[in-house]
Amino acid sequence: MTTSDQAKRILITGGTGLVGSAIKHVVENEPDRDKRNEEYFFISSKDCDLRNREETEVLFKKYQPTHVIHLAALVGGLFRNLSRNLDFFRENMEINDNVLSVAYQTGVKKVISCLSTCIFPDKTTYPIDETMVHSGPPHDSNFGYSYAKRMIDVLNRGYFVQHGVQYTSIIPTNVYGPNDNFNIEDGHVLPGLIHKCYLAKQNNTPLIIWGSGKPLRQFIYSYDLAKLYLWVLREYDSIEPIILSVGEEDEVSIKQAADAVVKAMNFTGEIKYDTTRADGQFKKTASNVKLRRYLPDFQFTPFEEAIQYTCDWFVKNYDRARK
Ligand code: NDP
Repeated sequence: MTTSDQAKRILITGGTGLVGSAIKHVVENEPDRDKRNEEYFFISSKDCDLRNREETEVLFKKYQPTHVIHLAALVGGLFRNLSRNLDFFRENMEINDNVLSVAYQTGVKKVISCLSTCIFPDKTTYPIDETMVHSGPPHDSNFGYSYAKRMIDVLNRGYFVQHGVQYTSIIPTNVYGPNDNFNIEDGHVLPGLIHKCYLAKQNNTPLIIWGSGKPLRQFIYSYDLAKLYLWVLREYDSIEPIILSVGEEDEVSIKQAADAVVKAMNFTGEIKYDTTRADGQFKKTASNVKLRRYLPDFQFTPFEEAIQYTCDWFVKNYDRARK
């Protein structure tokens, strides 16, 4: 029997969010689903507040996972981060320390946590790669979130060096897809744009894009990220983080992203840029060379196609979407 044939009980923290629900969708639609010896448990903050150690211990006792996909986090876009850096640091530190220490205490074999490309040093050379996580201070706008995420990598190293366990992390670029947080003030740029475009169309008002439209971003469709996350779960055996992203050549400006949303939503009204709003980091181009060494043939969904799916999902699920 190979390692991959052994039964896995996989707990997904943050299982109801953007990335967690994409993993659920992909797992449920895998053609060889029945042949895999895997059982998945998707949990939300309603099942357990992971900031609380006792609740975390009760959760692990209940599900007895062998593997953990750790997604739960206090997350938000630029404007929410700016006003709550202390909360982002403290709550994420609590969540991550509880998950990793209770995982270790209960004999979990593998934990895959989630970092982000926005935690990398502000002043850096491009492209960013996995070796640069701790190479300088992060951007001021999200220092709380960034330092808390960086500490996951420190914890992973500590657990490996001191206890020899395989706790690792992945680093996605900006994620988008069904079940995102479409809140205009609190959410990320793409879901915010989709929601604003929807309202502008409904109300016959201009679409106002925050900032200059010039910053560059790499966006990854949540279903593509979910497939890659499952590959990491099953095949990737290193504690070193791995960037899961489209290539450098697929970076788009906020303006190009807005144009794709406008097209997908069939919006024909006026478009304005509000340059009194902050732009955030100009770019954070990440290298996916390490990923490509493992998976040279992985096919990412084309940007416009995935934007179309996401916009269609939002329009269809407007009443129940997070917004
Ligand atoms: P979502 O906001 O969509 O989901 C967050 C999830 O975490 C929800 O299931 C939420 O539960 C759960 N959660 C939040 N706080 C707690 C808590 N105290 N206890 C238990 N569960 C909690 O996040 P995403 O899916 O977007 O993000 C998943 C991971 O990916 C995060 O670690 C994030 O930092 C990382 N990431 C995301 C990016 C993005 O662009 N979205 C980019 C890079 C990294 P509930 O539904 O009950 O609130």
